[in-house]
Amino acid sequence: MSSSYGGTSAFDRLRARLDGQAYACEECGYVDEEGSWEAVTTGATVEYRRECPSCGTERVRKFRL
Ligand SMILES: [Zn+2]
Repeated sequence: MSSSYGGTSAFDRLRARLDGQAYACEECGYVDEEGSWEAVTTGATVEYRRECPSCGTERVRKFRL
């Protein structure tokens, strides 16, 4: 697993923190322990998106880098 971001970064730490948490859907309560967040960077911010496999509700979390 290589990174083009120059090693361990805030980006990697945020992802590790999110992936380390069980995800419980706010809509249906489904707990997804297998999935992972999809990261989208826009320069100064990073968005992590995750879709509930049960009801399809998308959850988005934004962080500043
Ligand atoms: Zn759901």
